[in-house]
Amino acid sequence: MLGAQWGDEGKGKIVDLLTPHFSIVARYQGGHNAGHTVYVRGQKFVLHLIPSGILHPGVICVIGNGVVVDPHALFAEVDELARLGIDVTGRLLVSDKAHLILPYHRELDVLAEARRGERKIGTTSRGIGPAYEDKIGRRGVRVGDLADTSADGPLANAVRENVATRNRLVGNAEMTGDELIADLRAVWTRLRPLVAETSLYLHREIAAGKRVMFEGAQGTLLDIDHGTYPFVTSSNSTAGGAATGLGIGPRAIQAVLGVAKAYTTRVGEGPLPTELTGAMGERLRESGQEYGASTGRPRRCGWYDAVAVRYAARVNGLDALALTKLDVLDGLEEINVCTAYRCGGETLIEMPSDMAQLAACVPVYETLPGWSAPTRGVTDFHRLPAEARRYIARLEEISGVPAAIISTGSDRDHTIVREHSIATQWLEGVSR
Ligand code: GDP
Repeated sequence: MLGAQWGDEGKGKIVDLLTPHFSIVARYQGGHNAGHTVYVRGQKFVLHLIPSGILHPGVICVIGNGVVVDPHALFAEVDELARLGIDVTGRLLVSDKAHLILPYHRELDVLAEARRGERKIGTTSRGIGPAYEDKIGRRGVRVGDLADTSADGPLANAVRENVATRNRLVGNAEMTGDELIADLRAVWTRLRPLVAETSLYLHREIAAGKRVMFEGAQGTLLDIDHGTYPFVTSSNSTAGGAATGLGIGPRAIQAVLGVAKAYTTRVGEGPLPTELTGAMGERLRESGQEYGASTGRPRRCGWYDAVAVRYAARVNGLDALALTKLDVLDGLEEINVCTAYRCGGETLIEMPSDMAQLAACVPVYETLPGWSAPTRGVTDFHRLPAEARRYIARLEEISGVPAAIISTGSDRDHTIVREHSIATQWLEGVSR
């Protein structure tokens, strides 16, 4: 299950809907910049790092090796869950191979973004990018490394060296290597019971017939390889990331569900061909409550971009879509859908790799009639206004993927599961 657009597609709600039918939910990339908002019986939960599956008793949640973990952010989330009456003991596993986000990563993130000036990427400044840089640069600190508690062992030496390098770069850094080492000792005491070889764990559970959901964060167009580089996240949010980010074989993935909004949003910088800057953009932002769950930043809004979703269908091998926030379009007289881009006298039906070209693209729209009867809360496809059904059918056609799930409101119950679709299998039975 992953985002088929630029993130914030409403994945949290879809995961939450499917979770009762899965034994394990595993995250494979990203960090605590994700921000899933879930409403359960009117209560609001915002989770950044821990899979939202944790809200379901008995479900085991895995934070895979592909995730970067800020231990203090993790503990803050565990404490918040405890406050809400949810105990994670024995239900949360963290990969020993996951890399840590350390305080200097946050400082470097802020510094790098400030240096980029006008060309900023729009990061969340939580140290995620710099932690991945250290991972690829082979100087990162992994969760399992914390087990080394000797005063002059590999961990202590690596931390001292990393801190010294960062202090030279940052100039005003206040933390010393020894302070950080002391902090990491305390982190280990608390983290240790959660740490596991999660690839082996998943392998065994899958072999035993358990159903596992692989939960992507961010979205396809934010993938480090396949997204709108450089305005992307630092990891592989696409389907292949699940294999590398969890240490499972690609064939363990039996189906791929892409979550897409019935329109388009994006947080941060970078090209967004269907962006609406005027009153209609404002209308979508207000009715869709399009403000970041992690940062509160207003999201840029636009019409549904079928070129982007078709691209997501290709690079992820999508079997189905979960189409969310249909209700946000309620009451519009007409709705536009982008079917292609016009660029330098050419019509493009595939997503260009060149960002300058994408930025210069003008969407080609097809206009469909809107609907006046509300779709909000509708749970039966046949009860949707005819125009809404037609809109969905057209999106399926031009995106090349069937919409197996349609979300008509933020509540778990405001959902349509299409008859005879692949989603009916996922919602059958519990293997737990
Ligand atoms: P995620 O990161 O992909 O989970 O997306 P967010 O959690 O940032 O944004 C989803 C927001 O939209 C949350 O506030 C959800 O409660 C809300 N939401 C999800 N599905 C629907 C829907 O079908 N209709 C409406 N109106 N809101 C929805």
